Amino acid sequence: DTSHGPILYVEGVTVSFDGFKALNNLNLYVDDGELRCIIGPNGAGKTTMMDVITGKTRPDEGSVYFGQQIDLLNLSEHQIARGGIGRKFQKPTIFEALTVYENLELATAADKRVWFTLTQSLSAEQTDRIDSVVRQIGLLSEVQRPAGLLSHGQKQWLEIGMLLMQSPRVLLVDEPVAGMTGEETERTAELLTSLAGDHSVIVVEHDMAFVRSIARQVTVLHQGSVLAEGTMDQVQNNPKVIEVYLGE
Ligand code: ADP
Repeated sequence: DTSHGPILYVEGVTVSFDGFKALNNLNLYVDDGELRCIIGPNGAGKTTMMDVITGKTRPDEGSVYFGQQIDLLNLSEHQIARGGIGRKFQKPTIFEALTVYENLELATAADKRVWFTLTQSLSAEQTDRIDSVVRQIGLLSEVQRPAGLLSHGQKQWLEIGMLLMQSPRVLLVDEPVAGMTGEETERTAELLTSLAGDHSVIVVEHDMAFVRSIARQVTVLHQGSVLAEGTMDQVQNNPKVIEVYLGE
């Protein structure tokens, strides 16, 4: 089977908080291997959308499928995370006292509590995986440094590396370049672009120059629904999008 249909289906999803619809009949289809950027003004529903995909928030209506068969609404947040959908929050959750290598080692353990008693038992496959991830995230020369001594950008890449240790099919990334230097931003663009193909990458980001530099497809959310979808040029020239952003 060589077809590359959507890996993620979000269909007719509505989420209400005390009668207010944070998501209102949202439809989102993300292809296998795609890099998709999600933009939209504050309050558009971007965080709620990620919460629904990762099982943190349950919709009142609609369906969320991973591939054609896996109903994510039947899985716990933990099962979704272990089952192939990794999420990177803005604030990294790395262990600052541990080295880069140890953080990646820790991320291989299915149950993090077990790691503290089983430190010696990584398989050759797992150490190969750490070596390859550490190169991918550009931290080979920092591998024995405590994570707390890394730069802001390096910490973000380490967190992405920790997610990669779980071999996710889909990566959700929340504002990856917030607070980064220009050079770190460029390297992050290269990293996320290199991850697409083997993974579907969904990036929520406010930095429009960054979005333009990485995205082929952009989805604009507004009031809990999709306002526009297309290339950056298409959505930026869309009168509805211009109106929403000028009115912010
Ligand atoms: P974005 O990430 O695009 O800024 P959010 O998904 O955080 O948007 O929020 C969408 C809307 O839903 C906002 O108006 C927000 O105030 C509201 N909202 C989000 N979470 C909750 C909650 N737990 N309780 C009440 N309202 C919420």
